[in-house]
Amino acid sequence: MVFNWRPLSDWDASLVVGDAKMPLIVQKYGGTSVGSIERIEAVARKVQAARQAGNQVVVVVSAMSGETNRLIALAEGICRTPDPREMDVLLSTGEQVTIALLSIALKKVGCPACSYTGGQVRILTDNAHGKARIKEIDGGSVKEDLESGRVVVVAGFQGVDSKGDITTLGRGGSDTTAVAMAAALNADECQIYTDVDGVYTTDPRIEPRARKLDRITFEEMLEMASLGSKVLQIRSVEFAGKYNVPLRVLSSFTEGEGTLITFEDEDMEDAKIAGIAFSQDEAKLTIRGVPDQPGVAFSILGPISGDNIEVDMIVQNIAKDDTTDFTFTVHRNDFDKALEILKETAEVVGAREVVGDKNIVKLSLVGVGMRSHAGIASQMFEALAREGINIQMISTSEIKISVVVDEKYLELGVRTLHESFGLASEL
Ligand code: ADP
Ligand code: ASP
Ligand code: MG
Repeated sequence: MVFNWRPLSDWDASLVVGDAKMPLIVQKYGGTSVGSIERIEAVARKVQAARQAGNQVVVVVSAMSGETNRLIALAEGICRTPDPREMDVLLSTGEQVTIALLSIALKKVGCPACSYTGGQVRILTDNAHGKARIKEIDGGSVKEDLESGRVVVVAGFQGVDSKGDITTLGRGGSDTTAVAMAAALNADECQIYTDVDGVYTTDPRIEPRARKLDRITFEEMLEMASLGSKVLQIRSVEFAGKYNVPLRVLSSFTEGEGTLITFEDEDMEDAKIAGIAFSQDEAKLTIRGVPDQPGVAFSILGPISGDNIEVDMIVQNIAKDDTTDFTFTVHRNDFDKALEILKETAEVVGAREVVGDKNIVKLSLVGVGMRSHAGIASQMFEALAREGINIQMISTSEIKISVVVDEKYLELGVRTLHESFGLASEL
């Protein structure tokens, strides 16, 4: 895992504006939670209640549900690959609508509030449009507003680069805005309000018997997020772990303690597996009959990574005739480009053929308990075999095991593993 955030020592201490007198919380509300005027008014009441309970509150909001997709479709209706700078100008409007509506709703319930776009907060990012990284947050005027008793409402998912151009942080990026604001303001807790009441053993939409976790470690949450559980954007988890931001996932619809993301401690449940993640964003490419000689992996993957395509799992098989078959996975969005590059490579290295498969998914078991429990991989393979699910690729690390299987086995695979590892809630 690469942490691209600046080390804490690089953050300008004068920008850390936490107030020791009153607890400061950052609350983030996702798309469904602000999906209608009624929902926005309900959020305003929740925020007002938190303020009346004696907290300073910063609220980070997403665009209303479906809005970011609607805006993307509008642009793609004009051209397949719209200009990235203009896309960010377009997409940032979604969150801008929500901050204004929520601030209006807050004032209506008697709560003084002030809306801020990312640029107004001065959330400074690099200039990688569509996937920008936060470099610095200048919370100066936010602090003044908080101290004068206002609730500060910040547009998630957006910032500005050094030229002042609007940037966005990638899908799900409002989570990262919230955690970054919490770190910069030295907040007491960052609360991610969403449409589920916490982090579950797997996506409850796929396995209704999934169980809510009271706690999960940063390490596990980071793996779950990077292996496909989109309940938190991966960068938000990286950032919270790195800067010690207490992070909690809760429901904006129901009351409850949610799930606390925490460092590992002795009291944690002695579970082998924390959860099951899955990703449908995968695609597989194979180049067959490559003459087997030193440098073959580099000659195949060099041009792929040279085009900024990230390679995930890799398998190389040696054939009897001194050739090798080489298979790897990429994000499904990169499939067409990777296939084109691989076909060119095949001609250069004299390979026999190139084949691609977009109909695959990756299923992963995640748990720090794997470190001290043997036999998890064989239990996983046995469970899948019992259901006749063929495993195409495998990769492991200290706290996760991932397999690639045919897309048609997604639900069966998740439910089988959930059952086999006893993750379901007791009925
Ligand atoms: P928001 O719009 O609030 O940011 P998201 O849709 O990004 O909400 O994230 C919440 C969704 O994440 C849930 O509705 C759920 O389907 C999905 N999800 C995936 N994996 C998990 C998991 N392990 N625990 C809880 N939710 C999960
Ligand atoms: N609106 C953005 C998205 O849909 C950011 C977010 O909701 O976190 O991805
Ligand atoms: Mg989200």
